[in-house]
Amino acid sequence: MPAVEVEVTPEILAKYEAVIGLEVHVQLATRTKIFCACPTSFGAPPNTNVCPVCLGQPGALPVLNRQVVEFAVQGALALNCEVREESIFARKNYFYPDLPKGYQISQYDKPLGEHGFVDIVLEDGTAKRIGVTRVHLEDDAGKSMHEGFRDSEKYTYVDLNRCGTPLIEIVSEPEMRGSGEAYAYLSELKLLMEFCQVSTCDMEKGHLRCDANVSVRLRGATELGTKAEVKNLNSLRFLKQAIDYEIERQIGVIENGGRVMQETRLYNPNLGETIGMRSKEQAHDYRYFPEPDLLPLRISNEWRERIVASMPELPPARRKRFIEVYGLRPYDANVLTATREISDYFERAAKASSDPKAAANWVMGDLAGALKADGKEITESPISPENLGELVTFIAKGEISGKIAKEIFPKMWSGESAAAIIEREGLKQISDTGALEKVIEDVIAANPKQVEQYRSGKIAVAGFLVGQVMKATRGQANPAMVSDLLKAKLGG
Ligand code: ADP
Ligand code: ZN
Ligand code: MG
Repeated sequence: MPAVEVEVTPEILAKYEAVIGLEVHVQLATRTKIFCACPTSFGAPPNTNVCPVCLGQPGALPVLNRQVVEFAVQGALALNCEVREESIFARKNYFYPDLPKGYQISQYDKPLGEHGFVDIVLEDGTAKRIGVTRVHLEDDAGKSMHEGFRDSEKYTYVDLNRCGTPLIEIVSEPEMRGSGEAYAYLSELKLLMEFCQVSTCDMEKGHLRCDANVSVRLRGATELGTKAEVKNLNSLRFLKQAIDYEIERQIGVIENGGRVMQETRLYNPNLGETIGMRSKEQAHDYRYFPEPDLLPLRISNEWRERIVASMPELPPARRKRFIEVYGLRPYDANVLTATREISDYFERAAKASSDPKAAANWVMGDLAGALKADGKEITESPISPENLGELVTFIAKGEISGKIAKEIFPKMWSGESAAAIIEREGLKQISDTGALEKVIEDVIAANPKQVEQYRSGKIAVAGFLVGQVMKATRGQANPAMVSDLLKAKLGG
């Protein structure tokens, strides 16, 4: 390194292009582990959810969990992968205290799924397709606990409850060109897994873990640069921060005459930096070989077809349908597919209403706000989607005004329907000409000055008079009708 470091200015950054590929581990939401009947429950006392199989004791034999395979196939299909009829389990050997077997059971040259893709939308609205190289099954290792014990200074403890937890690893092509694309890819992948309910994808609990492979090259270069693999990215925000840091670090190394080393780096969220952990030279040689204790995994056409048929409608198709069928704007279609629960809620409300766009606005606006204020999830909404749809219909048909609807909405929090509240409180919009004419005549008689002004050409005063009628009817008059009737009377 030269004595004076070259500073990485925006101009220098702009000369380079970043290349990113992600490796994502998704914990499948089965009740039991992948090769034994131990529970996968989170938070059990250390080393209680274990048995000879997941502890790797001699003579114990793994038995593949059928539900794990179904979830994995669903996940692979959601990522548009081809699902292999025959995939092979392989041992990935390495020595680590949290791995009592001495190997992970994974898949190597014949993974469950291959050749998939995820479509993302970039910040400028353009779409981009990111290739998914492979999706394979594997079992998780245990956890080393370095902190939190009286003698943590001296000892590290291991909790083996997580050993044998089912995972799929999803490897992308190196096709992302910046932290924004990586962020979009991981959010969409997470959403797809959540929609098929194969995982809770809770990043805080480690149900979804992501490693980022990052390299840089001069713009226009065709060969890939040397990559660093960044680990410990347990939130979407950290993924973005770590990639941005790493890109700038690598450009700094090159601009200062150095070479990027192939290595594994750890992200430190407190410092916002990545720190070298081990170089490729020290990295593992996994000595993969076929797992002798498990048969090849065969997924018959018939089984595959059954799983295909069980797939829910996924966000890309749902967004498209929301736009085409309900006339939503793309932005709103995105918001309303942010979770499966939100999109199911909206769909029911839209079907129960005669104005899907208005239903969308109520779900994204008043309902979202009220749920947030009450600390509730949409699945716990005291207002059922059918009740919300009914409220929207009352407005669309002109039976209540938008203003009255805003007053009815909070009352519906008790679970009462809009119809019941309107009936009980007599809130129906007055569209009966006779009834309105009576009120209008009273207003005209009570405001001679304004009537005079109107007749002498100050027609803006009509607004004031309409307001008086609305006030007299507690907002229940149909404003358009009031305006017409009033003008007819004053003009005459
Ligand atoms: P390894 O042999 O180190 O495991 P792989 O070729 O299997 O590397 O790729 C692992 C991940 O790294 C994939 O997601 C891939 O897209 C990504 N990747 C590979 N080469 C690069 C590179 N030069 N820059 C960025 N990412 C890369
Ligand atoms: Zn077990
Ligand atoms: Mg690899």
